[in-house]
Amino acid sequence: MSQAHVLRIENLHANVGPKEILRGIDLELKSGEVHAIMGPNGSGKSTLSHVLMGKPGYEVTAGSIHLDGTDLLSLPAWERAQAGLFLVSQYPIEVPGVSLEEALNAAFETRSRDASDLHKNILNEANRLGFPLELLARSLNVDFSGGEKKRNEMVQLAVLKPKFAVLDEIDSGLDIDALRDVSKRVEEATNDDQLGVLAITHYSRLLKELRPDQVHVMVRGEIVATAGPELASQLEKTGYAEYGVEEPAAMAGGNVFSPLP
Ligand code: ADP
Ligand code: MG
Repeated sequence: MSQAHVLRIENLHANVGPKEILRGIDLELKSGEVHAIMGPNGSGKSTLSHVLMGKPGYEVTAGSIHLDGTDLLSLPAWERAQAGLFLVSQYPIEVPGVSLEEALNAAFETRSRDASDLHKNILNEANRLGFPLELLARSLNVDFSGGEKKRNEMVQLAVLKPKFAVLDEIDSGLDIDALRDVSKRVEEATNDDQLGVLAITHYSRLLKELRPDQVHVMVRGEIVATAGPELASQLEKTGYAEYGVEEPAAMAGGNVFSPLP
């Protein structure tokens, strides 16, 4: 078993412009654990993922983020990735002119990691994840469907083997088969590679294959409840009404909140 790591978020406050979006987040994630963050639209879930990764445009006004002993807030985004954080974005970016293998090769190079098995590993993971092999030669994510983008991000995650992965609504835009393949692969990584996962999701259906150790409810930039997997099932039935949020009971149904086309 690989070494255990800890991602610790303490009293994190963050603004976008003059507006405070994150209002004191505390969270501790260890290797091999899956924590789900659920919450209504606009509660700050994606903001948390961006602040974790160091995306520009967010001002951290208080609190800290540490990966083991390392203060992540003092590092630029690429160094956070090098330290072992990986984000599967809600909207994966398109990278014209760069193939998946070229991108991973560069990542291995900056990490001084042996890339001799890279090609073989990419093919293996693409097969495991049902990612069409003919897309491997194309520009990263350019003109990929929603499902292809998510599978492609998962191939990167599986080959790179980060310490922690933040999955921002990987279920949005995925059909049932793709969702099962992707969540099964993440679950396997938590067992085989001790990957720690922060799974941001609107829907409990993601959490059927990817079984969370803890479920947190985020409302208006705060974590208002934390419990075991039973909390996800309960939210599926009741929505967020008990947290003072009016939202239709659509947790289990169609992806009505997804802003994706
Ligand atoms: P969630 O992912 O939970 O739906 P977000 O983190 O995307 O929520 O958004 C939280 C709040 O922050 C929303 O009110 C949103 O409008 C606001 N917000 C997020 N990013 C920006 C931005 N770049 N500029 C202005 N407002 C933003
Ligand atoms: Mg979001």
